[in-house]
Amino acid sequence: MRRCAPLLAELFPELATTGGEIESALMSADALKLACAGGPVNDNSAWFLKRDDALPVAGSIKARGGFHEVLAVAERISLERGVIAADDDRRALASPAARDVFAQYTVAVGSTGNLGLSIGVMAAALGFDSVVHMSADAKAWKKARLRNRGVRVVEHEGDYAHAVAGGRAQAEALEHSHFVDDEQSSLLFYGYAASARHLASQLAAAGRTVDAQHPLFVYLPCGVGGAPGGITFGLKTLFGPHLHCFFAEPVASPCMLVQLTSGRETPVSVYDIGLDNRTDADGLAVGEASHLVAPLMVSQLSGVFTVADDELFVNLHTLKSCLDVEVEPSAAAGLSGPDWVLNSAEGRAYLRAHDIATDQATHVIWSTGGSLVPAEERERFYERAEGLVRGRAVTAQVN
Ligand SMILES: *Cc1c(COP(=O)(O)O)cnc(C)c1O
Repeated sequence: MRRCAPLLAELFPELATTGGEIESALMSADALKLACAGGPVNDNSAWFLKRDDALPVAGSIKARGGFHEVLAVAERISLERGVIAADDDRRALASPAARDVFAQYTVAVGSTGNLGLSIGVMAAALGFDSVVHMSADAKAWKKARLRNRGVRVVEHEGDYAHAVAGGRAQAEALEHSHFVDDEQSSLLFYGYAASARHLASQLAAAGRTVDAQHPLFVYLPCGVGGAPGGITFGLKTLFGPHLHCFFAEPVASPCMLVQLTSGRETPVSVYDIGLDNRTDADGLAVGEASHLVAPLMVSQLSGVFTVADDELFVNLHTLKSCLDVEVEPSAAAGLSGPDWVLNSAEGRAYLRAHDIATDQATHVIWSTGGSLVPAEERERFYERAEGLVRGRAVTAQVN
């Protein structure tokens, strides 16, 4: 990513001020302590919101994995075809000679939305024939945005898995193509993992130590598992046993939970246990976890909690009222994490079993998407959130 930063600054005007770096802020979020922990908390813990909802160009966590994969593929092709030499400045990937070569290749992906935005936009910017296969129920604004950026959108009946299967089959039929496989891509995975170093420097800059007395808790919304798994993998290499990562999954789509609790190496899906995989958290609506990531998480992940859809909207409301941050429903799943770890029977059992004191802990809630969501769509989110929050207030008064 560092090698390609000058290239990115050239391709995307919005990256000029950061020199092409794709990174997000670590926002202090102690205001959430009061809102989510059920009253004043007088300890030395600190809460943060990791703002991947505002990652540049793609507006979601998918910028990390997706940009890394497309850039790696572009490098490989241009080295193979003699367009650049190994040590050349990567800005040469934006040259007419490179674009002529890329135009002969199709870069395709199957996506519920955000991965498509990231892969599609980067591939089109480099001049690839860029194709995104979507389920028919994917959001209209996402399709429109892609088409505006020169991406071809192909719609498929059925869920995400059908879009992926259809996209893979079409790409394999082409001579020059690369299919981004969200279920087992190591290039996506490493792109996510690379976030660990930057987070470590942000925590250090905020004065937060990470050691046995100062544990680090990270709460990550999980779809297929690539993004949260890659981040967990990267952070584990830096913080080892002092890091405790928890995934947040929708009640109807807990694919990583189902896979890990099955104890099996063969795939298990949420449909196998009678769930319908229907959730408003469209970035997390995945029935079967990544076969690359699930086995790695057996030893690295601390736990998984599930979040009901209504809770996602209450979380949206909390983020807006406490921090003035607007995200998409999927991105709000992690906010339920600290309360679950600190106050649920399961969370407390985990803390006891590992002898973890939380009074000096750092809690990082990873916010994963939302800055590109159009205003009308956001208004609908907040209408629903307001209704739920008002309903709860009335219930509380009656009780
Ligand atoms: C994709 C996505 C996730 C989860 O990433 P996976 O790699 O699918 O687990 C979380 N939040 C948002 C907004 C996403 O788009």
